[in-house]
Amino acid sequence: MKMMTKAESQKVCYFCSNDIKTIDYKNVILLRKYINTVGKIAPKKKSGNCSKHQRMVAQAIKRARIIGLLPFVAK
Ligand SMILES: [Zn+2]
Repeated sequence: MKMMTKAESQKVCYFCSNDIKTIDYKNVILLRKYINTVGKIAPKKKSGNCSKHQRMVAQAIKRARIIGLLPFVAK
């Protein structure tokens, strides 16, 4: 298993540090940062978000997928 550096393990939640309370599912530029090349939602460990905001991001991405802003599976 790969050892984590101190900087990686102490990542601060982007939404907490910027005091963002709601995540707009139409904000594709922001949501794109939390999906990988295959179109999967980044896990909490990778995104560095707290549980609350990770759930909000996941929900926003799912909504964006339904209305066609984000891909379910990237080609
Ligand atoms: Zn947070």
